Amino acid sequence: MSLIVVSNREPYSPRVLDGGQVAWLPSIGGLTSALDPVMQRMGGSWIAWGEQFPGVGRVQLPVTNPRYTVERLVLSSEEVDAYYYGFSNRALWPMCHYFIERARYLQSNWEAYRDVNERFADAAARQYHPGDLIWVHDYQLALVPGQLRERLPDARIGMFWHIPWPAQDVFRTLPWDAQILKGMLGADLIGMHTPSYVRHFLSACESVLGLEVGRNTVVWEGRTVQVQSRPIGIETATFEELAASPEVETLSSRIRQGLQTMMLLGVDRLDYTKGIPERLEAFDAFLDAYPDLRGRVTLVQIAVPSREEVESYAQLRSQVEGLVGRINGKHAQNGWTPIHYVYRGLSREELVAHYRAADVMLVTPLRDGLNLVAKEFAASSRDGVLLLSRFAGAASELPEALHVNPYDHDGLAQAIHAALHLPLDEKQLRLKQLRERLEHDDLGRWTEAFLHELSLPDTLPDALL
Ligand code: UDP
Repeated sequence: MSLIVVSNREPYSPRVLDGGQVAWLPSIGGLTSALDPVMQRMGGSWIAWGEQFPGVGRVQLPVTNPRYTVERLVLSSEEVDAYYYGFSNRALWPMCHYFIERARYLQSNWEAYRDVNERFADAAARQYHPGDLIWVHDYQLALVPGQLRERLPDARIGMFWHIPWPAQDVFRTLPWDAQILKGMLGADLIGMHTPSYVRHFLSACESVLGLEVGRNTVVWEGRTVQVQSRPIGIETATFEELAASPEVETLSSRIRQGLQTMMLLGVDRLDYTKGIPERLEAFDAFLDAYPDLRGRVTLVQIAVPSREEVESYAQLRSQVEGLVGRINGKHAQNGWTPIHYVYRGLSREELVAHYRAADVMLVTPLRDGLNLVAKEFAASSRDGVLLLSRFAGAASELPEALHVNPYDHDGLAQAIHAALHLPLDEKQLRLKQLRERLEHDDLGRWTEAFLHELSLPDTLPDALL
């Protein structure tokens, strides 16, 4: 039995080295870290969009010790515009994050999405041997499970949905609501990050398709589909070790020395779902409300460039940079700059050094499927405080974080103040409890549990018990 993974993003990205040869570097992100070791163990195929060097089709990876095949699909620039930017990132992404005013529902993008999904399904079906497990990932590929089911009626197919699943009234704004649901119901097991996403998904099956649903199941075309909340974990031990390493300790002391103040930290892709402008406004309100802390607290905001091809992301960048300028202009004094803004991605070592240096981590998305940064901070920090939006999927798993409402600037300003003044023993206790949970529910466990469940034969739907 081997594994077939289907995802938009490839696990290793090719890069041309100075000497002209091509190196395959692991892609950054949870999915690769989670699945690459399993693929190396089980063998099989990974189907993904070959974003760079489309000339290179099939590769055996890792190069030094090939264990599995990556089948790299070539997409034309028109397909990328319509399937990826157009439908995935301008229709499904905003809608699932409750930003329906930003969603653009264009028939031509939908058709390209359906056709590109079909190509992923074809490629996966070609690799399939009876007994293999197929695991499809995320909102770019919602139709693939259904398209695969038509080709492989007996295959075990899993699907993980990594972003929020919105409440029904929001989902039903999508003109292709029924098609998306039917596509996903081709799977035997659908995983999501929180129980409320599962509930919303099942109620959409009920109201859009008129299906009978149980607490975690729905019957579709004579098959029982399991829909489970299975939040992804992080490589907790790796973060803990890195955080305690001398290199990170040195980097982190350097960051502290550079600031000479207490440190608030934000780390996000520059995405409108992350609530960066709202966070900056809250910091402004904080400095207005607590003048004695001016000059004594600095906000370091790391903004990782993202989807710059989509216009609203470019607009967000100017909005954020305008706000940083305004707030710094308003409050700066005696050589102190309130907000240090960094527009680039950090290496993992730099990132962990920032986590380690921060007194308070601000994870305040307006909506987020899960938020790995929150978990990574909790695993890395020595005695910092995690302020976590109630609208991040991770909030339901991390009760020891201080939960906040990112829309409430004054409330957030007060929460920052409270976090900065939390007694040391309380901070340490909260971190200890967070860490115990993260150690238990780590990334390896997530992968193993999903694949184990996927490999089990069908059970009776709980609605019928
Ligand atoms: N990340 C990184 N470098 C950075 C900032 C973030 O490698 O400078 C990583 C971070 O470690 C995390 C991921 O990017 O694993 C962000 O995941 P998250 O779930 O927080 O948000 P997403 O970007 O997936 O919406």
